[in-house]
Amino acid sequence: MPELLLAAKRERSLLRRHPWIFSGAIREVRGEPAPGDPVEVFAATGEWLARATYSPESAIRARVWTFDREERLDDAFCQRRVQNAVALRQRLHGGELPQACRLIHGEGDGLPGVIADRYQDVLVVQFLTWGAERLRVHLAEALRLAVPGCTCIFERSDTDARTREGLEPRVGPVFGTPPENTLEISENGIRFQVDIRQGHKTGFYLDQRENRALLGTRSAGRDVLNCFCYTGGFTLHALANGAARTLSIDSSAEALELAAENVRRNGFAEDRAEFLRADVFHALRSFRDARRDFDLIILDPPKFADTQGQLAKASRGYKDINLLALKLLRPGGELFTFSCSGAMTPDLFQKIVADAALDAHRDVAVLHELRQAPDHVVATAFPEGRYLTGLHLAARH
Ligand code: SAH
Repeated sequence: MPELLLAAKRERSLLRRHPWIFSGAIREVRGEPAPGDPVEVFAATGEWLARATYSPESAIRARVWTFDREERLDDAFCQRRVQNAVALRQRLHGGELPQACRLIHGEGDGLPGVIADRYQDVLVVQFLTWGAERLRVHLAEALRLAVPGCTCIFERSDTDARTREGLEPRVGPVFGTPPENTLEISENGIRFQVDIRQGHKTGFYLDQRENRALLGTRSAGRDVLNCFCYTGGFTLHALANGAARTLSIDSSAEALELAAENVRRNGFAEDRAEFLRADVFHALRSFRDARRDFDLIILDPPKFADTQGQLAKASRGYKDINLLALKLLRPGGELFTFSCSGAMTPDLFQKIVADAALDAHRDVAVLHELRQAPDHVVATAFPEGRYLTGLHLAARH
């Protein structure tokens, strides 16, 4: 098997079970590994460290799949890891798999670059690294076996991460026949249509489940502004919990159409749910100029920073919308604000929001610190797996 020899002292992160090997940490590549080939990783001292797969085009040149020398990257390996991941979700949700949940969260589940979401009996998967691509058939089979009643596995390997690896996008069924149109899931007792073919990510933002439930508890009688609403996740939770009115903004016509459909299917009066196709940055400014205000505002923007290098510019974007939103809050109003940029730490995000509060001349209390749903598992050895951070804030006057 080809081998990677690390530079002196570069084994430290691996000894702490971090699964990434950057190109700069490698002193020598022995043999000629093809993309996705398993490689044995050795410290400069000659000590065996791990078994990884090779990604020649990525700055993360290899990703570790096992720190156990006895473990081969074969069918049985895939079944063990996938079963462990599924079993964790079962325990997390009281013994039964919910009909909409994340089953595999990449490195968090010891499966670098593998994502699997469950929407009823359909699983939507992403294989985002060369190693994941190599094990694709085994992983799909392992998922089929691990999820009773699974009728279809649909692949949505069409993300930027995959392009960065030098892999072509792939979209289509791996097994079974996917639904023609949308499929329906229930989240916190609310019905949602999910478009697994065209929707963002695998079709739905499962990572906000608990935060949407919390938003629901704050919604009764309130006038709600949901910015970056996508298919209405937060909007529907506000309506289901007695919000007086909701105004939901997104730039995507398709997302808004599905959001409106979700309002209809849940039987909520359409006059309580207004939708606006607009750029949130512009819309917030126009509300400020028109002196329009709200009791409850949600800011759940797309990723502003993909990399550390984009963080400064991204920070200005976050500050801008948070400043505007805080100005639009009525006294006693609340803001749910998020960042899903992996490079943004909870600390930095809190500082940005603090700056925004200062500039908005608002006295703001942090009621809850928020994060991604727990089925988007973060391993202690891989804190990078946490990408969603958020704050539930109250403007005191
Ligand atoms: N809160 C949503 C997920 C939001 S995803 C949920 O719970 O499901 C981010 C959304 O922002 C996407 O739907 C995207 O279409 C939209 N978007 C991106 N840039 C935007 C902009 N400048 N103005 C308005 N919407 C934007």
